Amino acid sequence: MSTGRTTPDETESTGASTAETAATSQSTASTGETLLDVQNLKKYYDDDGLFGDPVQAVDGVSFDLRKGETLGVVGESGCGKTTLGRTILGLEEATDGSVIADGRDVTEISGAERREWQRDAQMVFQDPDSSLNDRMTVGEIIREPLDAHDWQTAEDRRARVFELIDKVGLREEHYYRYPHQFSGGQRQRIGIARALALEPEFIVLDEPVSALDVSVQARIINLLDRLQDDLGLTYLFIAHDLSVVRHICDRVAVMYLGNVVELGETEAVYTDPAHPYTVSLLSAIPGSFGPDRDRITLRGTPPSPRDPPQGCRFVTRCPAKVRPDEYDELSEAAWSSIESLHTVFRARANADESVLDRLKAMLGRSVREDVAETRTDLFGGLDLPSEVGSVIDEAVDRARTGDDEGAAELLREEFGSVCNAEQPDEHVVDADGRFSKCVRHQDGYDDPGAVIERRANR
Ligand code: SF4
Repeated sequence: MSTGRTTPDETESTGASTAETAATSQSTASTGETLLDVQNLKKYYDDDGLFGDPVQAVDGVSFDLRKGETLGVVGESGCGKTTLGRTILGLEEATDGSVIADGRDVTEISGAERREWQRDAQMVFQDPDSSLNDRMTVGEIIREPLDAHDWQTAEDRRARVFELIDKVGLREEHYYRYPHQFSGGQRQRIGIARALALEPEFIVLDEPVSALDVSVQARIINLLDRLQDDLGLTYLFIAHDLSVVRHICDRVAVMYLGNVVELGETEAVYTDPAHPYTVSLLSAIPGSFGPDRDRITLRGTPPSPRDPPQGCRFVTRCPAKVRPDEYDELSEAAWSSIESLHTVFRARANADESVLDRLKAMLGRSVREDVAETRTDLFGGLDLPSEVGSVIDEAVDRARTGDDEGAAELLREEFGSVCNAEQPDEHVVDADGRFSKCVRHQDGYDDPGAVIERRANR
């Protein structure tokens, strides 16, 4: 992470984007030494069986974090980014997997070892308005972790707080004030000072600037950059602003439905994305990897993490999904409707209210009751080959008799492929070790980008 620097004036507004104002290039400060080795990390909620299937918020994430680097984590809201950060820190108990730091698995430690990890690894939260206790002074807030860890003497703690106040660009007199007396950017500086109090090596930055004005965002990013240089910090930078991530992160991990689907050097990922989800996500940035490529609108809604698809997690929305040869000529509109109908059956089978509500918003009416009407909505204007129409009719008949699971299964058997059958392995896609989890990187399949382009031009 390396950026241009500015003074901490929170009131000035330049009108420029955060990335333009704050950042010019990524850091070369990473030593290449591994700080954290995350292996097959899982975090499931409601996994006691009382509420049906567990919510698979993080489902088998593996990566290493190098000392001194900034690793970005991007993905749609609800993809598991924040849960991943919290589970690494131990704020959430891991369901499975390991996080190795200094030769020990920090998901297993307790007592003195745990307290040591809590000192070494900190978090800066998204919303500075709700993450600071308004009844405590700034001095008390920053001193709190020092008190909790019984850090040196009371006098040392007080001196340390003044040192931190200065380090984050606040003034001495701010020690006695309360958070509500500060602007959003200043409040985030207080949160950063608190995170730095115990001299951590590693900080999870959970959308640290997304609640701030653009000009203030740039100043906070510059501050984080300076602190990283001065203190040798390693960052996990969780964000949804893809432009900011491009300019400040050394590497980027792309998450979808609890999984990291692609991870590599930031510039390589942004200029030549390998995974179909990355291609779709980055297409939202004008000119990000090609002047002529249009934005890709993903079909349907994200599946529920309580009931992720079998096989590839991205299969229900993937614009490059491998299709059965016999249906290769089917129109994109027909495929889109088939995938949507599949989602309807799966949501009905699992009584998944959140997905059913999203489908209602998409179709303009409830899909709970009359599935025949849903068929008309989705396929009404389409000219379907008779064999396709027959399969869909049979699936609708099954759903009408209450067999939503059988209906979903029939569509999966008939229109599914290797993408539905197996979870893709990691495939190394460049000389720097970037990986992407997509079967299309195997021999015998067309490249995802080429397939997306071809289908978009049909
Ligand atoms: S495995 Fe299939 S569904 Fe998954 S990303 Fe690759 S092409 Fe798409």
